[in-house]
Amino acid sequence: TRQFFVGGNFKLNPITLDAKSSLIDGLNNAQLDPSTEAVIAPPAIYLIPVKQTLRKDIKVAAQNAYFKESGAFTGEVSPKQLVDAGIPYVILGHSERRTLFHEDSALVATKTRAAIDAGLSVIFCIGETLSQREANETDKVCQEQLQAAVDILKEADWSKVVIAYEPVWAIGTGKVATSAQAQEAHADIRTFLGKAVSPAVAESTRIIYGGSVTASNCKELATQKDVDGFLVGGASLKPEFVDIINARK
Ligand code: 13P
Repeated sequence: TRQFFVGGNFKLNPITLDAKSSLIDGLNNAQLDPSTEAVIAPPAIYLIPVKQTLRKDIKVAAQNAYFKESGAFTGEVSPKQLVDAGIPYVILGHSERRTLFHEDSALVATKTRAAIDAGLSVIFCIGETLSQREANETDKVCQEQLQAAVDILKEADWSKVVIAYEPVWAIGTGKVATSAQAQEAHADIRTFLGKAVSPAVAESTRIIYGGSVTASNCKELATQKDVDGFLVGGASLKPEFVDIINARK
């Protein structure tokens, strides 16, 4: 059985340390389902203070990392630095990184390999745009994005990978995938993993859904057999994030 996983991707929010504390206070005082693995990803500047003040049963993730350990790479953070700071997870391949920061599948794969080699776990994001879905290319796009990781990870430890299926049309739009759409995409991703990696990896790898998840739609999504959790953007900045962590309670 796959442990339910809920991640909060704060993106470039909040701006002030004050808001951060009230967010963290809310989580620290909440009753959380102990069977859910809960992770939050604040902006890089907050990683260490958040880790220091956050309850220990919630983990901290970076939103990005470079593939080099150190050197002349202005503005980057390395996987080794994250490990040194005690940060266990990194989000890679988010659609905002792919689109706004021009990260292609090869770069995302290289970063994934470097992160895993350094000892991080990776929340690996994939997903199709609206026009790709309308052209019936959802499977093809997800498989291409995953194949790059499969090629570079090979026999790496897949227990270090959580796959986040985040259809681009659902991110920040309020248009959540239906539970049937999510289940179908997740099942197809799992089938692909079975062929491309191994049946055991397909069975054990968490595939989580992201895109306009809220307290009011999470419970139904969470009933789907291949939906192993969520990656939450906007709602992770609100008190309702607790209800999403507790979606299966
Ligand atoms: P929203 O939950 O704001 O749609 O964002 C989803 C997301 O991109 C999580 O990584």
